[in-house]
Amino acid sequence: MARIVMKFGGTSVANLDRIRHVSRLVEAEVEAGHEVAVVVSAMSGETNRLVALVDALDQETDLGAPIEDEYDSIVSSGEQVTSGLLAIALRRRGLKARSWLGWQIPLRTDNAHSKARIAEIENSAIGPSMSDGNVAVVAGFQGIAEDGRISTLGRGGSDTSAVALAVALKADRCDIYTDVDGIYTTDPRIAKDARRLGRIAFEEMLELASLGAKVLQTRSVELAMNNNLPIRVLTSMAEVGDDNPGTLVCNEDETMEERVVSGVAYSRDEAQITLLQLKDTPGMVAKVCKAMSEAGVIVDMIVQGISRSDNAANLTFTVGIRDLDKALKALEVEKDNIGFENIKSDDNVTKVSVVGIGMRSHTGVAQTMFEALADKGINVEVIATSEIKISVLIDSEYTELAVRVLHQAFELEKTSA
Ligand code: ASP
Ligand code: MG
Repeated sequence: MARIVMKFGGTSVANLDRIRHVSRLVEAEVEAGHEVAVVVSAMSGETNRLVALVDALDQETDLGAPIEDEYDSIVSSGEQVTSGLLAIALRRRGLKARSWLGWQIPLRTDNAHSKARIAEIENSAIGPSMSDGNVAVVAGFQGIAEDGRISTLGRGGSDTSAVALAVALKADRCDIYTDVDGIYTTDPRIAKDARRLGRIAFEEMLELASLGAKVLQTRSVELAMNNNLPIRVLTSMAEVGDDNPGTLVCNEDETMEERVVSGVAYSRDEAQITLLQLKDTPGMVAKVCKAMSEAGVIVDMIVQGISRSDNAANLTFTVGIRDLDKALKALEVEKDNIGFENIKSDDNVTKVSVVGIGMRSHTGVAQTMFEALADKGINVEVIATSEIKISVLIDSEYTELAVRVLHQAFELEKTSA
């Protein structure tokens, strides 16, 4: 007998038929003799609908900051509905089950409403209830803050609820059911020969966030990594008894290291800013970074180049596309203090990255990457690297081509592990 946590995302509980289907998948695990906790998201689209209601009311007045404690009370309601519905569906199948809201467990968080962090999960009630043969159906995404109010864990937060619950319950498995059958070497809509990975290391999963973000909330991967809890990502569309291995996100092992690159990710949410004719003095980049952090803008890739005239430099960096206006305004204000002549910006850029823990032990990855791009005449504007990742900034027009060419250059269509 094992203790398992099963998590179902919005499309997996999108309507009563899907919820009935989930109840069959849960029943199969109970019949196999396991103790089961199920974490559910809201029906797909429901959280967006609730957020839009809050926004609409907020926009009628201009009272400043959003009212986040009430936001949490509203947007957490979608999970209350699905946890109750699934509990009914399970009981109608003759299983013992009950729903649990965040505050009933209790799943305690800090007071950062709308993006709360989990502080502690008590299992003094839920654990014994499961040991008595009850399926625990837990509303994901929500908890109770120190102030006694409902809190939510940020969009996509039910993944984190599931992993945290698995850790608290000392579960043997944490299975995240979703609408794709695992993590792929790249976006299958772009590269037709993209393959499902059997296993992927926690660190790679974090770097592949742009591929996986829709599948797993980043924080859930960090939490699983810190507690060494493997997560299996698999589809909820399969029938009971189907072969459905999914992708295991786990600690790295030797087979993963043999693979030089595990995946190619891309992000179109980038914008590039270039400051021209900067006074090339110590502290100049620091001033730029300070201006950005004071404006609440995260700077990602940075490159400094020499300008044509003496003692001047050009500085290029990237920010999130949604922050571009904010960044440009803040730079304009600091123009004299930073000491540059002109600003150029471009939001028609894409960051393409190759990721793999194998890079630590294999050489020539950068060469393969740049040759493959050059072969197709794709110009690289900015480069950034980490121990397990190389990212390049390119013109968005070449996104699909670059992804396909890199997928091929690293022979990812052959990946089997
Ligand atoms: N329903 C919440 C959201 O859409 C939480 C989740 O699904 O993980 O963000
Ligand atoms: Mg999700």
